[in-house]
Amino acid sequence: MSENCLFCKIAAGEIPSTEVYSDEHIVAFRDISPAAPQHILLIPRKHIQSVAALAEQDGELMGKLLLTAKQVAIDLGIAESGYRCVLNTGEDGGQTVHHLHLHLLAGRQMSWPPG
Ligand code: AMP
Ligand code: ZN
Repeated sequence: MSENCLFCKIAAGEIPSTEVYSDEHIVAFRDISPAAPQHILLIPRKHIQSVAALAEQDGELMGKLLLTAKQVAIDLGIAESGYRCVLNTGEDGGQTVHHLHLHLLAGRQMSWPPG
């Protein structure tokens, strides 16, 4: 746990969230400011700043994160209609919370390229 990290505090239950999934390694909760009808954030419990800060040994954890996104999409009933997984990284990537998180967005047609 990193002090003063919003998502570490959410993972620890110190700040409330609308949780949709939780296990030993991963927590998934609803984004407070949804950008789509379904907008879930999936985070590792381990504090990792961003994709850019990943280490070789985080590979298994990142695999779990992606597989959990797949399962959450099934559970929410959006697997067939489709969804978008986004990992904003660094300043130009639009990252505002510096604890790695995967956005799972669904429920509307997404456009490309992203803004
Ligand atoms: P990013 O801009 O990729 O770093 O995404 C951070 C996301 O965290 C944004 O979509 C915010 O709406 C979301 N967010 C910020 N605070 C909270 C919170 N307390 N609970 C849930 N989502 C949050
Ligand atoms: Zn953190």
